[in-house]
Amino acid sequence: MSKREKKQLIRILISALLYIAAILLPVEGLAKLAVFLVVYGIIGGDILLKACRNILNGQVFDENFLMSVATVGAFFLGEYPEGVAVMLFYQVGEWFQSYAVSKSRRSIAELMDIRPDFANVLRDGQLEQVDPDEVKVGDTVVVKPGERIPLDGIVIEGASSIDTSALTGESVPRDIEAGQAIISGCINQTGRLTIEVTKEFGQSTVAKILELVENASDKKSKSENFITKFARYYTPVVVIAAVLLAVLPPLLTGQAFSIWIERALTFLVISCPCALVISIPLSFFGGIGGASKSGVLVKGSNYLEALAATEVIVFDKTGTLTKGSFAVSSIQPEDMTADELLEIAAYAEDYSNHPIAVSIKKAFGRDVDTTRISDVEEIAGHGVKAVINGKVTLAGNVKLMEREKIPYKSSTSAGTVIHLAIEGKYAGYICIEDEIKADSRQAIQELKAAGIRKTVMLTGDADAVGQKVAGELMLDQAYTELLPADKVDRLEELMKVKSTKGKLIFVGDGINDAPVLARADIGIAMGGLGSDAAIEAADVVIMTDEPSKIATVINLSKKTLRIVRQNIILALGVKGVVLVLGAFGLASMWAAVFSDVGVSVIAILNAIRALNIKK
Ligand code: ADP
Ligand code: MG
Repeated sequence: MSKREKKQLIRILISALLYIAAILLPVEGLAKLAVFLVVYGIIGGDILLKACRNILNGQVFDENFLMSVATVGAFFLGEYPEGVAVMLFYQVGEWFQSYAVSKSRRSIAELMDIRPDFANVLRDGQLEQVDPDEVKVGDTVVVKPGERIPLDGIVIEGASSIDTSALTGESVPRDIEAGQAIISGCINQTGRLTIEVTKEFGQSTVAKILELVENASDKKSKSENFITKFARYYTPVVVIAAVLLAVLPPLLTGQAFSIWIERALTFLVISCPCALVISIPLSFFGGIGGASKSGVLVKGSNYLEALAATEVIVFDKTGTLTKGSFAVSSIQPEDMTADELLEIAAYAEDYSNHPIAVSIKKAFGRDVDTTRISDVEEIAGHGVKAVINGKVTLAGNVKLMEREKIPYKSSTSAGTVIHLAIEGKYAGYICIEDEIKADSRQAIQELKAAGIRKTVMLTGDADAVGQKVAGELMLDQAYTELLPADKVDRLEELMKVKSTKGKLIFVGDGINDAPVLARADIGIAMGGLGSDAAIEAADVVIMTDEPSKIATVINLSKKTLRIVRQNIILALGVKGVVLVLGAFGLASMWAAVFSDVGVSVIAILNAIRALNIKK
């Protein structure tokens, strides 16, 4: 409970006690009015003030106004206890709402409790504890066991296992050793690590993720916008109805004005759409929180809402359905040794971040002398071209060889083939093999079970490789040998397959597919450990890199929308019934307040369900 909530609770309790005392006090007439006015001032003074201030600002019709008119009206009718009670219950309801909102906010913040408090920087051989903000790129920081990694960097000394669960939801610790990249926000468990910082705090993984989470609720879903619009028309309509109710029946039937004024005031209290206004954003907030609990960042409630309408899912292959870490399965040089060919490939790929390049460099395993490399050009969907030792070197697929008119040997291997050429002469090829991610197959099956109509794979890789993967995963369709621009074209075609209301998801790793990520209705990135571009371009980020999380978040989206619908029906239904009863004098102001507080509480509890997800 926050300080403000505690204060508010104490205020409510004191008012409640005073209220009981006021009822028991044997006073009549003006004395009674004075006593109740004091209690009213304590419990409702701020509401009255807010209502006045809003009127001055030109925003007349809000719930503060409704409550003020209704309770002041009750006083004019001589119903002092009712007036105070209405305000008291209203405050109880408000307290409950703010408690629920901050609780769900807090649980998200706790889940995302990844902000490091300090960094131990090594300066002149001494460790100095500073704010992570003050550390510069190139500084060396030391992280002791039990501490949080403060900044992104590369481990230069030490080995340890790190707990990435706050970032990825993954409970198994990862082993890390010198030479590996490490990201901020994880917890160092066993060993002392010395890290060279590669990014300033503002650019670090932690800062990016925190920013995403903080902004997540800014992007409003259609349902939330509906509420805002609804309230804009609803409130004036209700106020006009109340005025008519107070004036017309007495004029027409000759009944006492006081009866109808009271009914009109009751009608106003009943009409307050609190439950509706609060519970819908809260449900989405809960859904986003539930998703982040399982390692999926949803960047806005609009995306969470759209996910439920998914009809087509398009996957990238490398790094998305497959691990993207290739093992070299064969090296076929023309007239040099296998090791020499691998070395040339590693030099050519040195500047590339493509999973293929990373794997080749890993297979080579030695340091690269960058002074021997110049004029590097990465040709998307083809490969790379670079000058190595003064010789123009090509490394890439068949398309690259054809483009450069170099006769190549075709390989029958089922793996991905990287052909090499030096100074226009074919030098041989390296065959590497990727592995399908452990949960890819399950992911496709779960998506089918969740009602997805079509699953498609787009890849720039060779047809043999692509078809093999698609077959193993039982995808509905696979397009292969695509250039990045072709991927966009295919996506456009697939957009036409779905119904107008249906949504298309593209899932990629952000390498060579950022335009497709942006073009799809919902772009999902494998944010995992690293790729900033993907995290930025995507609407949804899967921190664990597990494709099966897509089905999890689609199901969560459906659950959230179910909760939203239930709350709308509940709130409007109860409201409707009590409003009609109130208009005919069958519901008292008490019933009105109880129904509103009651519905709000039920709606809030229902909304919180969205936070709970099955692991
Ligand atoms: P995908 O992620 O769908 O496999 P990409 O567009 O990333 O497709 O890559 C398509 C193909 O382009 C790869 O399969 C590979 O043959 C070639 N390629 C791209 N980048 C490189 C690179 N750095 N080195 C070698 N080949 C590459
Ligand atoms: Mg890719």
